[in-house]
Amino acid sequence: MGSPILHESIANLELPDLITGHIAGLPVLPKTPAISLPVRYPGSGETIASLQEDDATQVATAVAAAKARFESGEWSQSTIEERQRVLRATAQAIRTHANDLALRESICAGLPFAHLAARQIPRAADNFDFFADYIGVLAGETFDQLQEYRTVITRHPVGVAALFAPWNACLALSSMQVASCIAFGNSCVLKPSEFSPLAVLQLVHLLESAGLPSGVVNIVNGRGAVTGAALAQAEGIDRIAFTGRGDTARKLMRAAAERLTPVHFELEGNSANIIFDDADIDRAIDGALVSAFGNSGQICIAGSRILVQTQIAERFIERFVARTETLRVGDPLDSTTEVGPMGFAEHQQHVLNFFTLAKNSGANLLTGGRAMPELGSGYFVAPTVFKVLDNHSPLCQEEIFGPVVTIQVFEDDEEAWAIANDSRFGLVGYCWTESLHRAQVFQQKVQAGTLWLNTPIARDLRAPFGGFKASGIGRDGPRHAADFFTEEKATIAALGKPAIMKIGMGQ
Ligand code: NAD
Repeated sequence: MGSPILHESIANLELPDLITGHIAGLPVLPKTPAISLPVRYPGSGETIASLQEDDATQVATAVAAAKARFESGEWSQSTIEERQRVLRATAQAIRTHANDLALRESICAGLPFAHLAARQIPRAADNFDFFADYIGVLAGETFDQLQEYRTVITRHPVGVAALFAPWNACLALSSMQVASCIAFGNSCVLKPSEFSPLAVLQLVHLLESAGLPSGVVNIVNGRGAVTGAALAQAEGIDRIAFTGRGDTARKLMRAAAERLTPVHFELEGNSANIIFDDADIDRAIDGALVSAFGNSGQICIAGSRILVQTQIAERFIERFVARTETLRVGDPLDSTTEVGPMGFAEHQQHVLNFFTLAKNSGANLLTGGRAMPELGSGYFVAPTVFKVLDNHSPLCQEEIFGPVVTIQVFEDDEEAWAIANDSRFGLVGYCWTESLHRAQVFQQKVQAGTLWLNTPIARDLRAPFGGFKASGIGRDGPRHAADFFTEEKATIAALGKPAIMKIGMGQ
């Protein structure tokens, strides 16, 4: 069954028959024999476009184009004012074309259009404005403690970065990677997910229309094991920044090890959301729903392990499950949809497999736990809540990455902290309490890169973002991006003529 809204919407987009990458300002030429991949609409499974897969030769061309542009100095040595102008004009162009970008992202990632238009696309624009501001205030350092010398620290762009983006927020996350990379004068080759190539391609057009020299941002497309692997191994890459799964990160790290290329990884999570008996329960329920089912549950920062204290457990569970059952699941292009389909068929199967594991591990299904064929042939999964016996359940130890939450009941504070930290991940943590003491202990004890207290997801771009443990290496954020995408140079200059030890004066 097709999606009527889809047909009406894509008629306006004028998609080409074959979607290609973008190298040095031009579409990548098709190769013969060309390999093309179907791009499907997750809301119905229909094929909406074909994507040309780039091979190692095309990847090498993209890296060479990025290198040539870097070495030309046109962008790498441009003034701060010029880079700020391009970044700000890009931010503005993203806002102007927000609906078009949201539509392109929605039709391939299956994320609700309304969510994209309200949150992810504005975030993409903000990322460019933010880095424009940041490079305007970033200053070097001077050390003058050595009496006869002055040491000046300067930053220099590193060269060419390989950027890898996942499908679940491809444009928003690519925009962070691209903005933080090019703001410091670097060039890059971006490999978006093969499942969501459309909006990112449009972003590069907007960047170049805003005045970015061609070749600064290049795009290669294709499957991870083909195009992605070729990019990770390509000669001439100076940095690898990757957002995705831990297993893929391990492969990239092996490739990076060959050339000692620095890596920055933003990876998986299955984060705890702790609800204490003194919490404002209405707000805790609202927040738990947003953090578990936002982005259709396909979000690394999901508060997908709910821990609720005994005294309020029954009340909380009853109301949380009732609200879950009222979530509007449906066609992502329908503006009333709150939860869309899974991103692609294999991912839907990955989520459904957890339901079998749940049964075998004694988890108690409270609602959902099934596909939704009544919505047509899209990759839908019903919003699902399980009560689990303990944190050893695979539902708690693995990343599910779908509209699925587990609930565990705890007795006391120490138990809550212990369960929260009993995970190989450490991306984020949530806590709901009116107690100052508990809030402070939460901040001290929970092992995660970002903690949200009495609020669901909120992001301050000034703050570092990244994971403890297997949730990542490094941080997004202004200072961290500067450290990753620039090399620091210390220049030590003599003030006057300090004495130099004389050697080579032997007879
Ligand atoms: P993925 O690891 O499968 O793919 C990410 C990117 O890497 C894609 O472009 C893919 O084509 C490419 N890739 C895949 N295999 C590759 C290989 N062998 N060599 C080189 N490149 C390869 O991840 P995904 O399924 O697209 O994304 C979902 C994952 O991303 C989830 O685990 C989620 O938690 C994580 N994520 C993390 C954050 C964060 O900020 N921590 C944000 C969003 C998503």
